[in-house]
Amino acid sequence: MNIHEYQAKELFDRFQVPSPSGRVASTPEEAAAAAKEFAGAKLVIKAQVHAGGRGKGHFKNGFQGGVHLIESPEQAAEFAGKMLNETLVTVQTGEAGKLVSKVMIAEAVDITHEYYLAILMDRATCRPVIVVSTEGGMSIEDVAHNTPDKIVRQFIHPLLGLQSYEVRKLTAALGLTGDIAKQFAKLLGNLYKLFISCDCAMLEINPLVTTPDGRVLALDAKFGFDDNALYRHPDIVAMRDKSEEDPREVAASEFELNYIGLDGNIACLVNGAGLAMATMDIIKHFGGDPANFLDVGGGASKEQVTAAFKIILGDPNVKGILINIFGGIMDCNVIAEGVIAAAKETGLPIPLVVRLEGNNVEMGKATLAASGLNIVSADDMADGAKKIVAAVA
Ligand code: GDP
Ligand code: MN
Repeated sequence: MNIHEYQAKELFDRFQVPSPSGRVASTPEEAAAAAKEFAGAKLVIKAQVHAGGRGKGHFKNGFQGGVHLIESPEQAAEFAGKMLNETLVTVQTGEAGKLVSKVMIAEAVDITHEYYLAILMDRATCRPVIVVSTEGGMSIEDVAHNTPDKIVRQFIHPLLGLQSYEVRKLTAALGLTGDIAKQFAKLLGNLYKLFISCDCAMLEINPLVTTPDGRVLALDAKFGFDDNALYRHPDIVAMRDKSEEDPREVAASEFELNYIGLDGNIACLVNGAGLAMATMDIIKHFGGDPANFLDVGGGASKEQVTAAFKIILGDPNVKGILINIFGGIMDCNVIAEGVIAAAKETGLPIPLVVRLEGNNVEMGKATLAASGLNIVSADDMADGAKKIVAAVA
């Protein structure tokens, strides 16, 4: 799960990570009112979407840039009018872009230098890693590609936590000294606490800036949380903005289905993540293209199977469905009844191939055969994949 920059500021405030104050607005009037609250200050207006690269992005209406320095409430309203309910395309959104339904008005600061700071969960070492660079404010992918030696990583022992010698090493790597170094050390300690306490998967500040009046501030924020730990954080779950997510994935998560939308035209409904991966592979092997990854889990109910069917059929690219079930914990006949109920409820406008194996498989196949629905039965995975690929060709 991700959150918006204006929401990230709440967490920064809670953990004492200094960042310029900001207010969110959904209309030009609200933007003007927000700007008035910072009377006298220089301001910045920023489109709120779950994607970076906003500054260099463009709107489909031709307006350039999702981040602008502004000077008055009137200008806040004017720029908000050009951004709100418009689609912003950045290097991270893809061609489709993202609809902007909120902007943030924040106090603008003068910048001495832009740095990069991130904390990520590193899978290879099973440790948090802190990544810093003196080359902030630009795409970190470009820095990694052009000047890899300008990126410094510090792996952190998960039980020992962030040590002061590690902080000193990172401070030195950024060339920070004196009071700025002290502020950075405090900020980094607090940011690490935030990362661990909130079960973040990644936390990126690009840029972290120093100012002419001698402050260190987080000027941008990108947060990702570990979905499996969200049950511990109802306050963070409350920040979820479903309009930023793939609607198919939102529907799937409501029924506790593991669904990931893909670009192909053969929908898969499978029990077990490993079998789901293998099913996608074998569809590819026989020349097809999977439309999704969908794992209904070990003990799927009829309601879940029906929900899965509806999500699959809601994707206009889907031209055929392959159901691949291994009845281990699961009774094949329960799945067969779920499939029939779902097919009757939703209609079955496209070819459906079903491969069942395992517990009570004979009964399951008999139930499908007796249903009168136009279901093609497959003997094994390869047979099922060949049949669905042929059916959508
Ligand atoms: P991103 O493009 O989505 O990563 O959005 P950022 O929040 O990082 O803003 C993009 C760029 O705008 C930053 O790298 C800064 O150079 C500039 N910017 C953002 N806020 C301010 C500000 O308060 N003052 C100044 N001078 N520049 C800013
Ligand atoms: Mn940024």
